Amino acid sequence: MKLKELDAPGYERVVLASDDATGLRSIIAIHSTKLGPAAGGCRMFNYENIDAAETDALRLAKGMTYKNAAASLPLGGGKSVIIADPRKDKTPELMQAFGKFVNELAGTYYTAEDVGISVEDIAEAAKFTSYAAGLSDGPFGSGDPSPVTARGVFLCMQVAAKYGLGTNDLKGKTVAVQGLGHVGMHLCAHLHEAGAKLVATDINATAIEEASSRFGARIVDPDAIYGVEADIFAPCAMGASISPGSIPQLKAKVVAGAANNQLADENCGQLLADRGILYAPDYVVNGGGIINVAAEILKISEQAWVEEKVIRLADTTDQILSQATTTHALPHIVADQWVDNILAKA
Ligand code: NAD
Repeated sequence: MKLKELDAPGYERVVLASDDATGLRSIIAIHSTKLGPAAGGCRMFNYENIDAAETDALRLAKGMTYKNAAASLPLGGGKSVIIADPRKDKTPELMQAFGKFVNELAGTYYTAEDVGISVEDIAEAAKFTSYAAGLSDGPFGSGDPSPVTARGVFLCMQVAAKYGLGTNDLKGKTVAVQGLGHVGMHLCAHLHEAGAKLVATDINATAIEEASSRFGARIVDPDAIYGVEADIFAPCAMGASISPGSIPQLKAKVVAGAANNQLADENCGQLLADRGILYAPDYVVNGGGIINVAAEILKISEQAWVEEKVIRLADTTDQILSQATTTHALPHIVADQWVDNILAKA
């Protein structure tokens, strides 16, 4: 395997690995280890070229620094990408080669699942490195993080409702859920239990059927979800769904959901505020999953540790939204400053 250091100002280390035997082409980007070893998932995607893969790895790695710090974890930010089509190119040997690559970084970076990478794939990588988490077995195996992510989103949504709707009681409130996948479906269960009314969408017919029958969710077409009469809009599908195109359609007064990188660009936070819509910063709200993974990395088996940190996400959301409200600042800017302060003190 050939390793090549890539120059990326503002990042601690960015390495490209190429392995002719398995076809592995992968980049690991370490943005910061100020708070601890970098941690963040591995994404497999059919990037057009190495530049596109590096751009994504850098963006995602920096995002992990912010997410991990906001979740009060002793972990820095990093991410890895594998340039390959997960439907065609994935082999056990490829993932094992990736595991060897992770191991070369000697514990400065911990990997886990992300888009295109399953628990089984990580298990292959883990045959060659102990710096892999998100395993389903082993003494600290943390398994699927989605239920913990959903619980964190639910708790933070209640806080956001306090600021955006004047009450944290979601009973009788209508929540529009975009995406009924691993997180979205668990979130619907919490909301249903809390007495919220659900409007939901997905492109997967089975998921739609489940949400309708289990929670009485009213189902709408994917394009119609933005404009439904709702109190809260919960993006739980892909990133960038809060865009100059979707914001004018929103009738909800609060945006709080699981998706990463919800704002399509920097201006969208202002566009939401201009319409009087409160935005609960995504990387704070959706930190439950990485908390669950962190317990495995840090070899903590007590579920109470995870629960305490997830509850703390809601406290952090409260502090950020309180400051944003009193200073008339944008919540995502306040969140960034909050993390910058943590990093400056580290
Ligand atoms: P998932 O793939 O299980 O679910 C995504 C769902 O969105 C799928 O059911 C899919 O059919 C649906 N979808 C895709 N495009 C859609 C569209 N245009 N309209 C409506 N629905 C659409 O993913 P997940 O694990 O539930 O994660 C959801 C989001 O939360 C992602 O953005 C992910 O990055 C983020 N996130 C997940 C976790 C976690 O623990 N899984 C943690 C943090 C952040």
